Amino acid sequence: MPGVDVLVAGAGGFIGGHLVLDLARQGLAVRAVDRKPLDEWYQVEVTAENVQADLSELSAARAAVTDVRIVYNLAADMGGMGFIENNKAACMLSVLTSSHVLLAAKEQQVERYFYASSACVYAAGKQMDAQTIPLREEDAYPAMPEDGYGWEKLFSERMCRHFFEDYATPTRVARFHNVYGPHGTWTGGREKAPAAVCRKVAEAVLNNHDEIEIWGDGEQTRSFMFIDDCLKGTQLIANGDSPEPVNLGSSELVSINELVTLVEDIAGVRLRRRHLLDAPRGVRGRNSDNSMIRQVYGWEPDISLRNGLTATYAWVYDQVKRSVS
Ligand code: NAD
Repeated sequence: MPGVDVLVAGAGGFIGGHLVLDLARQGLAVRAVDRKPLDEWYQVEVTAENVQADLSELSAARAAVTDVRIVYNLAADMGGMGFIENNKAACMLSVLTSSHVLLAAKEQQVERYFYASSACVYAAGKQMDAQTIPLREEDAYPAMPEDGYGWEKLFSERMCRHFFEDYATPTRVARFHNVYGPHGTWTGGREKAPAAVCRKVAEAVLNNHDEIEIWGDGEQTRSFMFIDDCLKGTQLIANGDSPEPVNLGSSELVSINELVTLVEDIAGVRLRRRHLLDAPRGVRGRNSDNSMIRQVYGWEPDISLRNGLTATYAWVYDQVKRSVS
């Protein structure tokens, strides 16, 4: 009889940390695994079995999956545009982790295997315009994903499909679109736009500066999903019946300039903007078409950007304040 309800791979990271806490709160027995030392995990749930292991090793993946019913694989080398544009090889090496955890899950005949894919699987040619047409799941093909990181994600979600078809491994795949919230990366080079903007505004407030740097002209558009919506959707998809990759993202489209204005509103400041036109910008426009998630699961992410950013800014502000004092 399996002894562990759930494995969360990548538990020391942003989404994994929140997921472990949420699952433990539901009374589930959780094994939380990450290759980072425990003192670098963003959140640690004391009731979980917390393990430091490198899941790119097949033996470590097998040990992690032993006696587990449900696997959530969120382990990957990732970061914001600045990281993935400059670390393509490292991003692609996550294929070892994705493959070995999936293989171990197949051997153990788990009840569910959830894989965290990404909107970076979508073809760049469909994201050239800031007034973007929301991406539907079938837009991932013909394939021309984000170089490095996106290719790894597309390959690994494809592998889930074939493990389902060939071995009946019950795989479930969500394509996350830009997740943000407290307890994530907010500094150091891997942070994504919402955390980076919150940090820059908080630094300006705390240091009495009146300027903010913005990567690109700021007219590039994105949608951002608050972590609570991500947790709900992840579990809905993992426990659902469909093996098809499905978008999990907000459809509230904003430009980066609008994102800055929102954070300024929350902080009660107005800053002069300096646009760094040579900085990494990623695709021009990206939004999530949520027809499939609505149709299959009867739900879509609905926490407003303003509400999510209010919670995120408060947390990032505290981190910045602590780091300067
Ligand atoms: P994160 O970087 O905060 O967490 C990922 C964790 O995986 C890290 O703690 C890292 O140490 C761990 N990890 C990497 N390789 C490992 C290995 N070989 N063995 C064990 N642990 C390993 O990232 P996140 O934002 O929490 O993202 C979680 C997942 O969701 C990732 O797969 C990511 O690609 C995907 N995703 C995230 C977003 C987003 O906006 N955050 C968007 C699309 C997809």
